[in-house]
Amino acid sequence: MAAPNTNSPALQAANKAMMTRLDLDGHDLPPSPAPSSPHSGRRRYALATELVYTETKDQYGSSSIPIYQSATFKQTSSSGGNEYDYTRSGNPTRTHLERHLAKIMNAGRVLAVGSGMGALDVITRLLRPGDEVVTGDDLYGGTNRLLTYLKNNQGVIVHHVDTTNVDSVRSVLSSKTALVLLETPTNPLIKIADIPTIARAAHEASEKSLVVVDNTMLSPMLLNPLDIGADIVYESGTKYLSGHHDIMAGVIACNDPELGDKMYFTINSTGCGLSPNDSFLLMRGVKTLAIRMEKQQANAQRIAEFLESHGFKVRYPGLKSHLQYDLHWSMARGAGAVLSFETGDVSVSERIVEAARLWAISVSFGCVNSLISMPCRMSHASIDIETRKERQMPEDLIRLCVGIEDVADLIDDLSRALVQAGAVTLTIDSFHAADAESDELPTLAQV
Ligand SMILES: *Cc1c(COP(=O)(O)O)cnc(C)c1O
Repeated sequence: MAAPNTNSPALQAANKAMMTRLDLDGHDLPPSPAPSSPHSGRRRYALATELVYTETKDQYGSSSIPIYQSATFKQTSSSGGNEYDYTRSGNPTRTHLERHLAKIMNAGRVLAVGSGMGALDVITRLLRPGDEVVTGDDLYGGTNRLLTYLKNNQGVIVHHVDTTNVDSVRSVLSSKTALVLLETPTNPLIKIADIPTIARAAHEASEKSLVVVDNTMLSPMLLNPLDIGADIVYESGTKYLSGHHDIMAGVIACNDPELGDKMYFTINSTGCGLSPNDSFLLMRGVKTLAIRMEKQQANAQRIAEFLESHGFKVRYPGLKSHLQYDLHWSMARGAGAVLSFETGDVSVSERIVEAARLWAISVSFGCVNSLISMPCRMSHASIDIETRKERQMPEDLIRLCVGIEDVADLIDDLSRALVQAGAVTLTIDSFHAADAESDELPTLAQV
């Protein structure tokens, strides 16, 4: 792509608008959403408390923020200037959500948009042709697709490296690095990236480089990347934040007000802000994040131990056998609820996935119910087979996204699927469901 014409009137207007808070037509940018700050001086409670504790200026003191299902807001003067005028620019339900999330994510500013990919789109619009992006080789499929688009159409240079290896990251960092994009743990290979060390290296290589972390896998319940060196954090609100797989949403958080304004400019310009109705649902969902995540990861831990004890190669940062166990726990407060394991045979894996009943075959994660999938067939199918091989992604890999069900039921269903698929053999006449209290596991042996 040709370098942009920096003298074009449109670009000059855009730059001027950015500086003076005027829009492209020369109007004042609406003041909404006002930058939100969790640092209001009051006492900070533990996260579980902050998640449910909200403050509003609602005229009736409603305990749940109303859905302001309105595109426009009447003004009191002919020149406008009220807090809200048009929902693309700002809406009270969305602002309430954004302020609440800023508190939860330890951020100065949060912006809520229509999906996790929408969030990454807003962030990558900070890039210019010639800019370089350094990122991982086990990325979320949609992220991979968007970066490939930017590479092929927008003149952005993208380096995929193994982000578990700080030296590999260092080898591609330079003064041209504009953005370092990290996921940790990655999915489905559950690889851990050293955020503080990589952030330091990135900022040393280029002062202007932005370290961006996709925190979808852990959520603010388990990790606050802004506290350990990230400049921008984004998450898919479709996953743990909302928790019920009933909405699509994306969330962007940062501390630098100028950066927040630039991203807000894009959201207001393109109209990708989260709708009032979905803002309400995300607000409702996030209040139960702590209790859901605690249960989900306790279940995930038991299931990871169950599979490992039967000889499967399991990837989960809650297991001491994870190669980066110490690194993970130096940053995060929990292991999350996504794990993956190998069976050694693609067709056995297919049979396991299809034999499971409680475990729904579905892409995605973060929902209250448990899901099972084969990433190479589903969520990561858009990555071609050669690249998958290069990135050492086992074709037989099964991913489990653990929900809040009774863990004995989950292990029971999984055991039955393993036996039915021929992945394990029964060594006693009959087995009872693993009993969550007694720690008894069905006696199975891997074939
Ligand atoms: C789901 C997901 C996304 C994309 O979010 P959507 O809400 O589906 O657009 C990005 N990153 C990760 C790690 C995800 O799991």
